[in-house]
Amino acid sequence: MTGLVATDITRTYVRHGSSRTALDGVSFTLPPGGRIAVVGESGSGKTTLLRILLALGVPSEGTVELDRRTVRPGSVRSLRWFRRLVQYVPQDPATSLDPRRSVLDLVATPLRLLGVDGDHRAKAGAALAAVGLNERYLQRRPTELSGGQNQRVAIARAVACEPQYLLADEPVSGLDPDLREQVLAVLAGLPSAVLIVSHDLSAVARLCSDVSVMHDGRIVETGSVRDILTEPQHSCTRDLIDAVPRLARPSQEIH
Ligand code: ADP
Ligand code: MG
Repeated sequence: MTGLVATDITRTYVRHGSSRTALDGVSFTLPPGGRIAVVGESGSGKTTLLRILLALGVPSEGTVELDRRTVRPGSVRSLRWFRRLVQYVPQDPATSLDPRRSVLDLVATPLRLLGVDGDHRAKAGAALAAVGLNERYLQRRPTELSGGQNQRVAIARAVACEPQYLLADEPVSGLDPDLREQVLAVLAGLPSAVLIVSHDLSAVARLCSDVSVMHDGRIVETGSVRDILTEPQHSCTRDLIDAVPRLARPSQEIH
């Protein structure tokens, strides 16, 4: 199957002599051009799954493939082909963006590390434009920007190399409603496949066509956003829906 495919992933953490299963037999596919959400309560295993899909974490069992080519953690060099195609917006840009560096430096560095051809300043400017920030922001530092602007810089950094797949971990958590809408609109406008991981079903329902629901390290339900919202099969899916009364408002759809 083409796309980013995880098969039968199990991940066990051992701490203080006892083990905990963070992922238990999870299979998941992000197809080319797909818009998929993975939702679940805190601690259900979302970040662990995302990191394994990104070859940042190692599964205890199972495999990850991109277009049938096996992917596993390795050196920057051995993963360069993969990182050019699959990029990541980490949770909490406040800690993921080095406050001492300029936005230009932050956005252009991955282009250099990945060996992308062309004018990196121009590409960084174009990536900023794609997230609604003008060229002036290239000279700013993260400490001079708002939370929503930093989140957009983190997205610009990930999309500057024009990846085919973008994986974002809780990209709108902690943002106030206006900024949340802005960031969702940015993600909706990207040409790549997008996987959004969130504990907030309402934040992702309007952007994604399909959703997988995680509970306690397993995917308990997968389907179209419409089916999951209208006919949730699992009690924890109903809990996630009940937590978000705003979902009922069709006027908030993003096109
Ligand atoms: P989510 O992103 O859905 O909140 P996580 O993937 O972060 O969930 O965590 C899933 C489970 O794995 C939790 O019980 C968490 O405590 C545990 N876990 C995550 N990372 C580690 C780690 N580095 N060491 C030990 N346990 C971990
Ligand atoms: Mg998480």
